[in-house]
Amino acid sequence: MLANIDYWEKKAQKGGFAIPHFNVWNVEMLEGVMEAAEEKNAPIIISFGTGFIDNTIFEEYASMMVSMAKHAHVHVITHWDHGRSMDIVKNGYNYGMNSVMRDASALPFEENVSETKEVVDYFHPLGVPVEAELGHVGREKVYEDALAQYHYTEADKAAEFVERTGCDSLAVAIGNVHGVYSAKPKIAFDVLKSVRNAVEVPLVLHGASGIPDDDVKKAVSLGICKVNIHTELGLAASDSIREHETLPYLELQKYVREAVKQRAMEKIVLMGDQDKEED
Ligand SMILES: [Zn+2]
Repeated sequence: MLANIDYWEKKAQKGGFAIPHFNVWNVEMLEGVMEAAEEKNAPIIISFGTGFIDNTIFEEYASMMVSMAKHAHVHVITHWDHGRSMDIVKNGYNYGMNSVMRDASALPFEENVSETKEVVDYFHPLGVPVEAELGHVGREKVYEDALAQYHYTEADKAAEFVERTGCDSLAVAIGNVHGVYSAKPKIAFDVLKSVRNAVEVPLVLHGASGIPDDDVKKAVSLGICKVNIHTELGLAASDSIREHETLPYLELQKYVREAVKQRAMEKIVLMGDQDKEED
């Protein structure tokens, strides 16, 4: 059934677990994560973003996301990830996403505040929670390069940002990056702790694919209550394709879906999200 992200993030925050956010952009990924959620009796977030529009027509695919979310036995949130403009997040909402992220984190602080606030002011009357980002989770290929120019979230700025924008959750930059980590991630738990102490809204960890399990668990224990996974679903799919490359596509596709499901179940368990439907 369709669910409210704010309700589940706050429940996770209180309960010391995290809701997994899975980026999906084809049938294998969508069905894989939905089967994982059903099998683990776990609420999840299914999410689309601009990075996938060359692969899939969102305005058509969204119907399948919403339909599967509605028909699921578990609670499912439909989310627009990293919205780069008001028009983009509005489009996501118009096609059925019931949660949005406005990411203006690449802009200077004041512009991030005003862009985020504009989206919050538009969506709150509609009952749609808004995630924002402060500091910047980049996408550099070489991890050391990313760290050399990294913009960590600053606790005092985070407090001011949340106060002024009214955002419902905050994505933090604590040494995490998007994509594959070229070296072992160095998660700044001290930064996470200080931000956690400075704000009350749920905190979000992007780029969690490739962060060691113990570090993800520690981040969750320190207050992260939504964890974004994309790259690892893709890696599971790619590995499965290589393993079954001689099969007809009709058969191969089923293995890919199963591989995505298995990886999603691992993440659900890692985040302590399994069996949360019974609470
Ligand atoms: Zn992200």
